[in-house]
Amino acid sequence: MRDPHTPFTFDLSGRVALVTGASSGLGARMSKVLAAQGAKVALAARRVDRLADLKAEIEAHGGTAIAVELDVTSEAQTIAAYDQIEAELGPVDTVIANAGMSKEMGRATDNPPEDFDATYDVNLKGVFLTAREGAKRMIAAGSRESERGRIVLISSITSTYISAHSAFYSATKAGVTQMGRVLAYDWSRLGVNVNMIAPGYIQTEINDGMFDTSYGKKMLAAWPRRRLIDADALDGAMLFLCSDQSRQITGSIITVDDGQTL
Ligand code: NAD
Repeated sequence: MRDPHTPFTFDLSGRVALVTGASSGLGARMSKVLAAQGAKVALAARRVDRLADLKAEIEAHGGTAIAVELDVTSEAQTIAAYDQIEAELGPVDTVIANAGMSKEMGRATDNPPEDFDATYDVNLKGVFLTAREGAKRMIAAGSRESERGRIVLISSITSTYISAHSAFYSATKAGVTQMGRVLAYDWSRLGVNVNMIAPGYIQTEINDGMFDTSYGKKMLAAWPRRRLIDADALDGAMLFLCSDQSRQITGSIITVDDGQTL
């Protein structure tokens, strides 16, 4: 048990973290935050060319990062990515399954079913492949004894909140949340904690231009604080779920939405 007189920290030195979808938005930010707490970070993305600046920025601040090519929809690439990370940094004990996409632009009646398949492949199957391979490696490296396996799935408030024209996206995010709870149960005696973060709306590439539309403006005006969330709002929840302080938290969902769903 933690000594109550010792200051509370989110020290992640000695940890090896994988962040998927690290080339932009929340993934890039979470990678920097993890590195600043001492974790060695594997930056994974399809666009590896976009990782050079991020890697250099982390190193310039004294952190350790490597770039890894990964399309999360491919099991073979997922296995190869974990192999590369293990060879260069050691076994992964912390996973942020962050890669996600949204293609819907209008009414469900106008959106082609193929877009559902594409959204499913990245947002749900991709998250599963990342989490499953991570758990396998953690268990093989002794997570049962260390109780230090940490998997964080980036879900969304749309897993429960109704956002118009987002049936495919919302369905996959609801799936992420429930799948995460089942995985948390399945791996509960193996030292692997699986938790979800459900962010509200933050300005990134995924919703580029949305808040310039009349629908987006109306949505924003309906939130109690009438604002988008700053990207740093996720930092604390994410670090907590990766740290030793969350040893007895698994299968939980932390909503970070500045009250947007109230
Ligand atoms: P983003 O578009 O900047 O980031 C998503 C990243 O996932 C991109 O780098 C993209 O290239 C990557 N990606 C997509 N398909 C991939 C694939 N097949 N393989 C590997 N990487 C892939 O947007 P973001 O807001 O930073 O999104 C990060 C996560 O946060 C997503 O899961 C998103 O659904 C979730 N989220 C975002 C918001 C928001 O308002 N921005 C709210 C709730 C949840």
